[in-house]
Amino acid sequence: MSSGGHTTVIKRVLERRVHELEAREDTTATVAVMLRVLPPPHALLVIRAADTRKQLEQRIHKEMLDVALCEEHEAIDNLRKKFRAVVMTDSLPLIRRIRTQKLPRDPFILYIAPFDNPEEIESGLLAGADDHLARNATEPTLKARLGTARRIAELEEVLRIALIENRELSTTDELTRVASRRFFGKHFPREIDRAARCRRPLSLILCDIDFFKHVNDTLGHACGDEILKQFGARLQESLRRGVDWVARLGGEEFVVILPETNYDQALDAARRLRACIADSPFQVPGKTVEITASFGMCNLQQVPFGDRKTADHMLRIADAALYRSKHAGRNRVTATLMPMNPVRRDGSDIDSMLSR
Ligand code: GH3
Ligand code: MG
Ligand code: MG
Repeated sequence: MSSGGHTTVIKRVLERRVHELEAREDTTATVAVMLRVLPPPHALLVIRAADTRKQLEQRIHKEMLDVALCEEHEAIDNLRKKFRAVVMTDSLPLIRRIRTQKLPRDPFILYIAPFDNPEEIESGLLAGADDHLARNATEPTLKARLGTARRIAELEEVLRIALIENRELSTTDELTRVASRRFFGKHFPREIDRAARCRRPLSLILCDIDFFKHVNDTLGHACGDEILKQFGARLQESLRRGVDWVARLGGEEFVVILPETNYDQALDAARRLRACIADSPFQVPGKTVEITASFGMCNLQQVPFGDRKTADHMLRIADAALYRSKHAGRNRVTATLMPMNPVRRDGSDIDSMLSR
């Protein structure tokens, strides 16, 4: 390799390092924002010694921890009702009980030791505490210990929020709030497995907005987006809540999954969907827009066991039906009853179909 080649490789490696660093910093920045906007963690103070309780209550600032008091015998119930990220207690039995109970989430436990000696500290840690604090601790020690408890509680909360949001982001279509294509790719095969296992029929409807390019060209992309949003919502509202579901495959194309639905029921559903779009115009800022969509339905009365190609077959058949609806003049439904053993085509899978 020429020295020029080396330089290029090194340059690329260095550039990648810079990118990796930027990506990390971006994540850290997001975490920092999340940490900043979090309110102080909820804490529960369960102290047997009345004078210690009073002192601690006065010494813990509201901005540090949002503290509630409770009697020892009510503590477990209290934690079940409301999650407290931090528990401060001088009761070893309570610490043991918290650790052995199946609470929905584990709190950080700060053992308030009567004295600051190794035996006291060890008994707290052995009972299940995460850290300890002597009841006569100096101000800097108190601040440091509470700071640790708070930091751990906050990081756990941020991680939880980030995981939930991450799941949301990848499963929901950002514009229309119906399921994402990614979610469909993962869960449609699961619906097929379930239908096969339970020996239930399964139906699928593909739908595509008619002349949507013209809508965008005449009203603008923002209006197009608004119509897409309302379109997704109309579809979802016209279906059985908690059973049927809609995903956006891309652009102005949606798919509807109807579990436990036979041919006639699915045809009814498709007709209902067509009507819910065509029968009342869409309202966008300053305008009323007539929209129609074409539908292709496919029903499998008996779903074969363990056939990885079923998802692809159903999509292909629904797509062919949709194509017929378009060519027959749009704003209509075409339905297909799939044969029990569909003729195998080439070995393409759901992803190749989805990436059409
Ligand atoms: P047909 O009746 O044959 O389906 O015609 P059509 O115009 O709906 O189909 P075509 O595939 O020619 O155009 C689809 C248009 O959908 C093209 C693009 O401008 C628009 N589109 C795709 N994704 C989005 C989006 O996220 N927002 C908006 N506003 N428009 C989109
Ligand atoms: Mg279209
Ligand atoms: Mg299209």
